[in-house]
Amino acid sequence: MPIYIIGLILSFVLLICGDSSAFKPYIKNRVQEIQLLSDPSQWGHCPGKDNPADLISRGTSPVKLAQNELWWHGPPWLKLAPDHWPNRQRDILDSELCSEELEYRSSVHVAVTQQRESLVDINRFSSLKKLLKVTAWVFRFVNNARIVNKSMNFYITADEIQNAEYFWLKYVQYEFYSAEILTLKRNEQLRCSSEIKSLVPYLGEDNLLRITGRLLEADLCFGEKHPVILPRHCKFTELLVIREHERIGHCGVSATLTQLRKNYWIPKGRQLVKTIIRICLICKKYNAKPADQLSGQLPRDRITQSPPFQIVGMILQVQYLLRTIKRLISLMFLCLHVRSLVPYT
Ligand SMILES: [Zn+2]
Repeated sequence: MPIYIIGLILSFVLLICGDSSAFKPYIKNRVQEIQLLSDPSQWGHCPGKDNPADLISRGTSPVKLAQNELWWHGPPWLKLAPDHWPNRQRDILDSELCSEELEYRSSVHVAVTQQRESLVDINRFSSLKKLLKVTAWVFRFVNNARIVNKSMNFYITADEIQNAEYFWLKYVQYEFYSAEILTLKRNEQLRCSSEIKSLVPYLGEDNLLRITGRLLEADLCFGEKHPVILPRHCKFTELLVIREHERIGHCGVSATLTQLRKNYWIPKGRQLVKTIIRICLICKKYNAKPADQLSGQLPRDRITQSPPFQIVGMILQVQYLLRTIKRLISLMFLCLHVRSLVPYT
């Protein structure tokens, strides 16, 4: 036979049946204790008008009390099933709670960002060529493990290298411009704080973020009209700049930037190119200034005052004329003071 407990205060009953964590520790601890000792489904509420004890507390005459059905038999709904009792299975309303009993709880929103792990650790590479090769090998391994028609070619094909580069472009864009890509996919305007808003980006058919640009009518290739946007502070972009710089034979900043912009656009890319060229060893070698040589002491005769051609130097030249088989000897006298030259043939 199930046991039911009837409470007289509605908010108290609802409180026991509900979540106690919103209350101050004093109330919370007691409610939790009651919830441990009894099942909330056992609790019911008796409204004031159905409470026989209220007849006495409010005052009544013995004659009236003797004839009162409520006093002798209790509330009429007690004879019904518990499901028909009043205020059962009802949520507590905020207005029914005393604000002093509630605990103030500040909510903190924590944004958890999940960093995607790439197949290959890019930080271990100093050359884009090697990175793309390794990525292509990894892709081939994954494909061979999945499909029946395995590629047993000993060499990496150009398509595989292109796929690897496409993978990295997409990966880098999702890493740095995921908010912009999501906004564009929803056909919404980019936020003003976006670094690339001024470039008017759009998602191309290959799902890469590209510049709309103003060269739509120009007689240029697609990559030049709509270059792929790449972030500046990114290892992949650095490797890409190095590759383009080497591809054009270690040319200067402007030439490297022009070469890059044939396919890619890096916001504030000039600074990145300058940095890469500054640390390029080959460029350093070619741009190095020759070492200065210290001049020796001048001879005494040259710095002592004397008439012209008193102290001279001689330069003897012998020329052979092969066609006429002749020998031409010339002698030149050089004054060490006034630096004038007199030929003697
Ligand atoms: Zn260089």
